Amino acid sequence: MNNKAQGIRHKAQSEKIIIAVLSSILCILLLSGCTKEDKVFKKTRTEMFTTVTITVVSDSDKKAEEAIDAGFAEIRRIGELINYFSPDSELTAVNRSAGKGPVKVSRETLDTIMKAIHTADVTGGAFNPTIGPVIKLWGFSKKESERFVPSRDSVSAALRFVDYKKVKINEAASEVYLEDAGMELDLGGIAKGYGADKAIEVIRAKGIKAALVAIAGDIRGYGMRPDGQPWRVGVQNPRSKADKKSPDDDILTALYLTDQAISTSGDYERFFTEDGKRYHHIIDPKTGFPSESQAISVSVIAPEGYISDGISTGVFVLGSQKGIALLESMGLEGIIVDADMKAYITKGLKGIVEMPGMQ
Ligand code: ADP
Ligand code: MG
Repeated sequence: MNNKAQGIRHKAQSEKIIIAVLSSILCILLLSGCTKEDKVFKKTRTEMFTTVTITVVSDSDKKAEEAIDAGFAEIRRIGELINYFSPDSELTAVNRSAGKGPVKVSRETLDTIMKAIHTADVTGGAFNPTIGPVIKLWGFSKKESERFVPSRDSVSAALRFVDYKKVKINEAASEVYLEDAGMELDLGGIAKGYGADKAIEVIRAKGIKAALVAIAGDIRGYGMRPDGQPWRVGVQNPRSKADKKSPDDDILTALYLTDQAISTSGDYERFFTEDGKRYHHIIDPKTGFPSESQAISVSVIAPEGYISDGISTGVFVLGSQKGIALLESMGLEGIIVDADMKAYITKGLKGIVEMPGMQ
């Protein structure tokens, strides 16, 4: 082989080496491009007459989208079953048959009603899902200008139909019966938390490793954010400042959750003012009037959304002293803010939560 031929061979060999090196670099680049990183996906929609935000952590856009859509669909399905206002809901069928006969319902409707009755039991009736006739009288679902304070007589008349012990359940037959004609179940105090639980169930079943479902102030999460941190949920200032400069100005404190739920019940959600007095939508089942417990905001942390939702509504009615005692007896954590902006917290949050007005 002459020198020229040898040179060509050397050249060909070194070209081969260069190509091999280049292609392995390319391979590494491609591979790292394909090594999927977890990202946060988030969508907001209106369901259950309120703002629902679903956040999921996934390494795949497609998987994330599918899971989020399944979550929304589940919330819609549950909302339709237990919608107090819809003539076609299972809940309306139960209410219409009050005093007439039992109604066969789906497993989910039965489940929500049973959970609501249990919540009524543990709160000593401060949470009462048979509050329907009284809520209807106050018309909180109407426009603010169409709401007015009902007469004492009409409130007393409606209160006669409020008795959760007269809700008869036949679990085996999946039947519900309201014993007296005129009784009405209203699951508004527990439905969103339950909906968040069910949405989390379907999202988890899609193989998603972490998610947060927020149905207005009822929030359920599991798993961790991609940075390994728990989910951060702000507790809203119930008397938000008019001159707020950033959304964080509206936050009293932040709570962190992983496999838990947080619900906040506040007197600022739905209310109207008449003669300078605020009438809000959480009713004391003993009086039929908006609770005067002095609580203006109650946040509860619980293992499941139906618990945090129902219990926060009940604790709102009980007020700070009885409320904190109930939460601690149940092993739950919570924050109660009263009308003087004093904040009461359960023992388990001491040293963890800092906020203005803390007692
Ligand atoms: P929000 O709907 O603002 O999240 P809650 O979870 O506290 O607040 O639920 C309030 C709703 O619950 C009311 O709109 C009404 O439908 C119902 N409700 C009001 N008072 C009670 C009560 N004492 N027990 C059970 N449900 C109630
Ligand atoms: Mg509630």
